Amino acid sequence: MRLRLLITAALLGFCGLPLAAQQGSTPPTPSRGVRYPRLLIRNAMVIDGTGNPVHGPLDIMVEGSTITSVRPARPVDEFGTGRGGSAAAGPAADKVIDATGMYVMPGIIDVHSHIQFSRSGPMPKDYEYKLLLAHGITTIRDPGSGEGIDTMVAHARLSAENRITAPTIIPYATVAADNPTDVRAMIRRVKAAGAMGLKVFVNRPDVWDAIGDEAKLLGLPIATDMRIQEYDVRDAARLGVRSIEHWYGIPDAAIPGGVQHFPETYNFDNESDRFRWAGDLWRQADSARLSVVLDTMLAHHMTWDPTFGVYEANRDIGRAQTLPWFAEYAHPAVMAYFAPDPTRHGSYHFDWSTADEVRWKNNYRIWMKWVHEYAMRGGNVTVGSDAGFIYHLYGFATIREMELQQEAGFEPLEVIQHATSNGAKLLGIANTGVIRAGYSADIAIVDGNPLQNMKVLYATGVDTPVNGKIVKRGGVRWTIKQGIVFDGEQLRAEIRQMVKDAKAQRAAGGGQ
Ligand SMILES: [Zn+2]
Repeated sequence: MRLRLLITAALLGFCGLPLAAQQGSTPPTPSRGVRYPRLLIRNAMVIDGTGNPVHGPLDIMVEGSTITSVRPARPVDEFGTGRGGSAAAGPAADKVIDATGMYVMPGIIDVHSHIQFSRSGPMPKDYEYKLLLAHGITTIRDPGSGEGIDTMVAHARLSAENRITAPTIIPYATVAADNPTDVRAMIRRVKAAGAMGLKVFVNRPDVWDAIGDEAKLLGLPIATDMRIQEYDVRDAARLGVRSIEHWYGIPDAAIPGGVQHFPETYNFDNESDRFRWAGDLWRQADSARLSVVLDTMLAHHMTWDPTFGVYEANRDIGRAQTLPWFAEYAHPAVMAYFAPDPTRHGSYHFDWSTADEVRWKNNYRIWMKWVHEYAMRGGNVTVGSDAGFIYHLYGFATIREMELQQEAGFEPLEVIQHATSNGAKLLGIANTGVIRAGYSADIAIVDGNPLQNMKVLYATGVDTPVNGKIVKRGGVRWTIKQGIVFDGEQLRAEIRQMVKDAKAQRAAGGGQ
């Protein structure tokens, strides 16, 4: 397969684009998900996504793509689900999922999920999509894909039409330019191409002003990290930015004197420098100033999407490099991309020292405290993974983010709210993220209780003692996107096969 390297001109910072994008490869395989006229989920314990406590057991009726009723579980016959169904209960369900002993929650919304069809080499186009669905993720916001906005808009449509196996995709386009005129033209172009929002990195103040103005005119939300530059998160608030990704611009707005202290040899364009010394940024920020910055963000209804997980390798590189799911679920092109290499984005873990890890552990403590504080003041906090970089594997990364939000002090119910209805709020999709009649049938049916252990959401499951023996339990048994049912076990088997095939191909000297 011939590869064409697309060298990205812009300087990309954490969430950058892949240096190589696969061209002209085969399209994803057709969807095998099925949407039923009437689907009944029986006898489920329900986490509704609003922060309400668990209710159950409940029966959930889905008609087409919509939840039409959620009510206390009733005997099978009352629904007319086949044998001896009563006519009074209405038409029979076409499909019944017995969720006895399982927990049902809204499909997860990952608001920071780059679509990547290649890393160090090409991967099957279904690979990432299936990993996402296998973890109950039914909606993603793609904050800029190296595959280009046209491809992402096309895939969003194919997904909506159930022609590919993929979550609902909200495609954002990355914009940057040297001057206000060019950036305005670029924004108009991506809007016409179907972009639903803008992802913005580093820009001159006059270009930022033009972006804010043009985005407002065209009704496009902006996501940005406000990585260290002349403007910080206070300017972003003024310009109407909808979400702060990661965190940099927040402590940067609270540094006494305004300029962060770096070693004399620091170079922002050296990723190793940038990631190492970012680990000192929260320590340098002043608490009183941070408090005011948070109030400014609140006043402008900004969402904070912290993406704790994608930096986690910085505090514990050995753990990150040996995660248990890599063996069966990591495509070799992803693993090769993660390996330390100064030419690749996010692959900067060479000479990573004990002191670096300690610095980052302290950075996390302060960062987590302020994210929690933002939510306590009423700020919207979401779940975004930024997977595909730094040992952060698609799907698993989203669940890891949820675990880290629990570590930040949130109750599991709050974490699930971040991962569902808070994401819907950020994306302006009013009818998803909650298990409730009238809402979209975006649902994850989980073999286990994620409130008790978030790890049950991992495709690898959890070790559970049954009759004195340890067996694998857990995983998302069914993922339902817009009423379309995907079998979790089948997805997991297909992913493992893709990985196996890719490894065999490599061993035989083929592939990438
Ligand atoms: Zn990113």
